[in-house]
Amino acid sequence: MMELEGLTKFYGETCALRGVSLTIEDDEYLTLLGPSGSGKSTLLRLIAGLEQPDSGSIRLNGEDIASLPPHRRGLGIVQQNYALFPHMTVFENVAFGLRWREENPVTEEAEITKRVDAMLDLVGLSGFENRGVGQISGGQKQRVSLARTLVTEPRVCLLDEPLGALDANLRERMTLELRRIRDTLGVTFMHVTGNEHEALGMGDRMIVLDGGAAVMIAPPEQVFDRP
Ligand code: ADP
Ligand code: ADP
Repeated sequence: MMELEGLTKFYGETCALRGVSLTIEDDEYLTLLGPSGSGKSTLLRLIAGLEQPDSGSIRLNGEDIASLPPHRRGLGIVQQNYALFPHMTVFENVAFGLRWREENPVTEEAEITKRVDAMLDLVGLSGFENRGVGQISGGQKQRVSLARTLVTEPRVCLLDEPLGALDANLRERMTLELRRIRDTLGVTFMHVTGNEHEALGMGDRMIVLDGGAAVMIAPPEQVFDRP
């Protein structure tokens, strides 16, 4: 369970986040919707530890993680730009996550192969192990990036516009894959999007940010359920 309380962040005079409080259950898939500049990325960066809040707390399973550096928080983040290693194959990009993770890095090659193969299968990339990152499509890069994060078995997986670069057809496929991954692995997901349909279609609950404030937190089916 992750508990955010009163998270506030200023950039100079700009209040990017104004007192956001939220409790997220394990296994929950949360979508974060809001217009550009509403504070979505700021919230993700605070949780990931890439920036510090001016006030408020972040607790994960009762532990205050606000003072921990990013790599000690047990979180995974998939960033918008994929951030893959261009000189490595698909396999090595995913294996990197396992070899170098903070807790229990895996060193035995047979074990690494087993886990990377299973993860590539999960994201639908079996057979692409030996491709260079320059030889796959944008959608495939997005999935390699996801696999590299998920293989580290994060408690919470933060996704910043994970479907943003995809066409409608591919987005539909990735949406199904993400749901299946959630059902298979039981990870808490926080999925940032500027796309209303995506937010409504993906999540158990959605949080709507506007001007740095959480103006709505509700299951998708209740969001437009007005008289
Ligand atoms: P979103 O992800 O919803 O587009 P952001 O979290 O990126 O929103 O931005 C929220 C607000 O904070 C915006 O007004 C933005 O201009 C401002 N902001 C974000 N990052 C910075 C920064 N590094 N320096 C100054 N202002 C920033
Ligand atoms: P996906 O839907 O899996 O992202 P696409 O539909 O974009 O894949 O592409 C279909 C096929 O074309 C894939 O097998 C992929 O390897 C190949 N392909 C697509 N884009 C590129 C690219 N930029 N470079 C090399 N191969 C590509």
